[in-house]
Amino acid sequence: MSSSSVTLDYSCFCGERAPIQVSFTDKNPGRKFVGCKKFPNGHCEFFVWVDKKMNPGEKYRELYMRHEALKHMHEALSDPRVNSGQKYQDLCMRHEALKQRYEALSDVNVELKNLNNLLSDSMDAEKRRKVELQEKFDEMEKKYLACRKACKKLLIFVIIVVLWLFLKRN
Ligand SMILES: [Zn+2]
Repeated sequence: MSSSSVTLDYSCFCGERAPIQVSFTDKNPGRKFVGCKKFPNGHCEFFVWVDKKMNPGEKYRELYMRHEALKHMHEALSDPRVNSGQKYQDLCMRHEALKQRYEALSDVNVELKNLNNLLSDSMDAEKRRKVELQEKFDEMEKKYLACRKACKKLLIFVIIVVLWLFLKRN
């Protein structure tokens, strides 16, 4: 709970990490300091104040504010009805939101499936049409080739007839 968010990293003369602590003496109530972790047993002389020295009015206000904050926290924590009710409502709302999202997603899923079916249907139709067209094309090509053959034969016959008539007259 460090509202000032100071990240002091001190090592004391013993070589140990010295944590930030709060003084509760009459002279310096609520004042932060860094000191040897082993105090009061076998400690070294390392000791530094983190907070500046406060006058009694400042100290009193600081302590009072901390007390109020703790009181509010305590009140909030020790009212299980309000808390669990709020939690329950919150969970209900989340559940409802998730349900709606799920429903929306399953709607989308159904739409996608329908679209997919439509697409594969139209693809099948397209394939069938292509096959039909190919068949028609083949048939027409056959007819064309037959026609050309017949035309050639007719032309040769006509030429022969004309030549025969011409030779006959002379
Ligand atoms: Zn030490």
